[in-house]
Amino acid sequence: MIQIRVSDIKQFVYCQRVVFYNYVMPVDKKTTFKMEYGKIAEDKIDRLENRRKLKEYGLSSGTREFHKQLYSEKYGLSGKVDLLIKTDAAYYPVDFKYTTSQPHKNHLYQLLGYAIILEDIYDYVIRKGFVYLIPEEDAVVFDLSDDLKDETKNLLSEIRKMIHYQQIPPPVKSQAKCLDCEYRNFCGDVF
Ligand code: SF4
Repeated sequence: MIQIRVSDIKQFVYCQRVVFYNYVMPVDKKTTFKMEYGKIAEDKIDRLENRRKLKEYGLSSGTREFHKQLYSEKYGLSGKVDLLIKTDAAYYPVDFKYTTSQPHKNHLYQLLGYAIILEDIYDYVIRKGFVYLIPEEDAVVFDLSDDLKDETKNLLSEIRKMIHYQQIPPPVKSQAKCLDCEYRNFCGDVF
């Protein structure tokens, strides 16, 4: 089975071609401001999170594990979740974002990817996850329904099929996404 990362699901939802370039036609990426800034922001995350309280997630108690490496053999899926909150009743994946804009659909699917792995390796149904917006200091909660998890499992099959048949997907519909894309030099049909 082709091994997939949770970040691939996120990118596939953003633009399928990004995953194609990563797996089928690896190319030198252009470093974007967004990538550089993301790295700097990550360095600050632990310090900030240590000061943060669980009540910001609407929780009264629980333990936190940072940068937890996750792997599901069953789904051939791996990923490193920024934070895993564990309570007696439930587990919650948390992804940190250094952005002032609200989370997008691809961020939801990233959480769903973590949820699929967590459900496989722990005896919990993962019903909610969070995207924490660092500049806003706001935890946005997402419902992680069974239907959405099934959709995400279907995406895994689509990604594997694309890699197996080496078929380049069409460019993303919203070409505003291309402006800050590290692969823009390779999408001749867009620019
Ligand atoms: S330039 Fe646009 S179509 Fe090409 S990979 Fe980036 S987002 Fe996708």
